[in-house]
This record gives sequence, C-alpha cells and structure tokens, in this order.
Amino acid sequence: MNILLLGSGGREHAFAWKIVNSPKCSKLFVAPGNAGTAKIAENIDISPNDFKKLSSFALEKNIALIVVGPEEPLVRGVVDYFALNDKVSHIPVIGPSQKGAHLEGSKDFSKKFMERHGVPTASSMTFTKENLEEGLEYLKSQSLPIVLKADGLAAGKGVLICKSLEEAEASLKEMLLDSKFGEASSKVVIEQFLDGIELSVFVATDGKSYRILPEAKDYKRIGENDEGLNTGGMGAVSPVPFADLEFLAKVEEKVVKPTINGLDEEAIKYIGFLFIGLMNIQGEPYVIEYNVRMGDPETQAVLPRIKSDFLEMLIHMGEQTLSNYTIEIQDYTTTTVVLVAGGYPESYQKGDQIEGLEQAETGDKSLIFHAGTKLEGSKVLTNGGRVLAVTGKGKGVQEALDNAYETVSKVCWKDLYFRRDIGQDILKLIK
Ligand code: ATP
Repeated sequence: MNILLLGSGGREHAFAWKIVNSPKCSKLFVAPGNAGTAKIAENIDISPNDFKKLSSFALEKNIALIVVGPEEPLVRGVVDYFALNDKVSHIPVIGPSQKGAHLEGSKDFSKKFMERHGVPTASSMTFTKENLEEGLEYLKSQSLPIVLKADGLAAGKGVLICKSLEEAEASLKEMLLDSKFGEASSKVVIEQFLDGIELSVFVATDGKSYRILPEAKDYKRIGENDEGLNTGGMGAVSPVPFADLEFLAKVEEKVVKPTINGLDEEAIKYIGFLFIGLMNIQGEPYVIEYNVRMGDPETQAVLPRIKSDFLEMLIHMGEQTLSNYTIEIQDYTTTTVVLVAGGYPESYQKGDQIEGLEQAETGDKSLIFHAGTKLEGSKVLTNGGRVLAVTGKGKGVQEALDNAYETVSKVCWKDLYFRRDIGQDILKLIK
C-alpha cells in the first residue's frame, strides 16, 4: 500500500523507518520530511497544514493510509477535513478528530475530561480575566508550590511552578491581564503541585480497543542535571525501571481504560496515539497532561522496542480492528540522545555540514534519526535546532548509553551540543 506521513522531525523519521521495514509498505511519501526520510522514502514539498494540497496528492498517488506525526495539523482539524470531504473520506487518517485534539489543545478541557471520567490528576480550578479576583482568593487557599498553566498551546513554556504566593499572584495577573502567553493564557488552570517521578506512557487506539506501547522517560531541559531552559526534549530512556508491572497495571486500570472509554462515551472520534504524561507518586499514577500524538524524542526510543509489524498496527487502527493485533516488545533498553545546534533553544545557526553520519550508525547497536536536517547534493546540512537523535540499544541502561554515546562521538558539526547525563538519574535509582 502507498502511505503518506506528515511531519519532519525525528519522530517522523522513526515512524518512516518502521513503516518502510514492513512488507506491507509499497511506497512511503513524507510531507515535508528531512534528509533522513529522504533516504528511505520520498519527501514531498507540502506543508502538513495544507489540507487541500494533501488531499489532491493523496488522490493522485492512490494513498491508502495517512499518518499524522505532529499536533498542529491535528489541532487544526486534518482528520475532520478528510472525513468530511467525499473524495478522500475513504482514506483512514491516523490521528484524533479536532475535538479529540482538544485534550492537548486546551488544558481546561483535558482537566474537566479527567474529572468527568475519574482519571487521577492534580486538583485544579480554571480562571479567566472576568473572575481574576476569585482566582487570587483561590491561590490564597492553596499550598505551595502551586502550578499555573496557560490553557492553550504555548510550546511547552506556558507552565509556571510558583514557589511563593506573591509570585503566583503576579504570574496569574500577567497571564490573564497582560496576555503573557497571548491568547493561550486567556484562561489559566491553577493546579496542585505533584511531587513524584515523571514518565510518559503511550497508547495506540482505534477508539474502542487500545494497545499500550513501551513507556519512556524524557529529559526536557537544555542543561545537565535538568538545568536551564525548557526544550522540545534532549533525550529519552525506555523502559523506565521505576515503572514496574504493578505500577503499569494501575496506569492501565485507572488511566488508560477510563480515558479510552470516556472518549467513546462522549462520541469523540479518536483513532491515533495518546501520550500520557504521568507522575508516579509512591506507586500511584497521576496524569499531568495528555498529548494527542507520540512524543519527540520518546518515539525514537519507543519504536525501536516494538518487535511486531508497526505498519500492521497502523492499518488495524485505521480499520478499527486493533483488537486483532498483538503487540510484541523487545526486551532490550533504548536510550536516545538528542544532538542540537549550539544556542538552541534560543537563537542558533542553520546550514552547517554534518560529518561522520555514514560511519556512525551501526544498526544493531545504534540508530540515527534525523530531525532538523536537509540534503544539499550529497551533503547533509543542519536545518533546525534539534538536528539528530541517536538511539543506543543494550541489555540495560548502561550498555544502551555506551552504544548511543559511541555513535554520538562519531558525528560532528560546528557548535554541536548534547547532554552527557541522559539516563544518569535512572542509573543512580537502580544501583
Ligand atoms: P510540554 O510541551 O512539555 O508537554 P505543556 O506545556 O503541555 O508541556 P505540561 O506537560 O502540563 O505542559 O507541564 C510541563 C511540565 O511541568 C511537566 O512535564 C512537569 O514536569 C511540570 N508540571 C506540570 N504540572 C505539574 C504539576 N501539577 N506538578 C508538578 N509538576 C508539574
């Protein structure tokens, strides 16, 4: 079958790699893709948000399945666009409807959804400019630290953890009155602080059945020891040793089942991936957030651990027959190290030539996924902040890290930066 994948990050390169490895794939197109996807599929110069062009292309190339990587086309309604357009409504699109994408697009919506379906989460209240005074009163009644969240998408920057009441009051006013995060902070969720260990669980669903993919832990900050600015993600590890079978069984019973059933009960069409950000508090799961797509760079750690045919799973999702699919997981550990351009997440340079790629990847011990890269003739150039993700495989965290960092050491470009402490916290915990 011919498949169209939307996106251009490391997550999409990992998806593409899994898809082309399936005997069921005849041809894969990636819109717009990167230098990594160009080597294994055909990149097409169409934006994932240009639904009209995507639908004409899908018809022209006889596309039988569309897979959406990033959240933006989902939040903009790509799934509804295809479903409502007679000419292309026969093509399954792997991603939630626009209503389903609200679980990520609005924190107020997702908190209320969790409350309606009894999903454990931090207690919270939502406020707008109109009831700012009540919000300030509410803050006084809460313990510290306290978490303030812009309701809408704010590229991971819209969450403030306030240590004092004064800081919380000032931040609430800035968010509601001075539009600190633009339209995204016209509503603010004030939430109890959860003190625990964070991890992410990934679910594939066809709206009724689900399959739980390997869990992962990510590393958000630019600096070692989790210091400095927030980024799109600097690394990931899977599996997560502190998420034992007992904990994961609780996640399934208390979080996954009520969430999938809740979507079904509310007739919210959801065929796609659900990323559940969790806090493990003394063995009990609490949901921090839902994302309506796979994570990046977690996907680059999670997909190499899926042994069964991934495209077959996507096909079952599209046909709503996921209950017939058996997911098999590799028992090795994967660790992913993200290589970024110096200066990221602030200003950085593009267009530097990347050296050493051909020799670096081993396949059995490590994989290289491209993110912000582009081809210029036979050269691969940097073309974004997060440039590559290197995934090491191994019998445990240490071996996987050794394999990842060995590959990292063979790649270079001017101003390359990466964190050297990915997985170190986990190594300390399991010692
Ligand atoms: P991202 O883009 O990183 O997914 P986001 O803007 O969607 O972020 P959240 O995931 O809700 O926002 O929060 C960002 C981070 O803030 C979380 O990964 C977590 O570390 C921290 N955080 C959020 N809510 C809480 C909470 N209630 N208690 C403790 N920490 C929290």
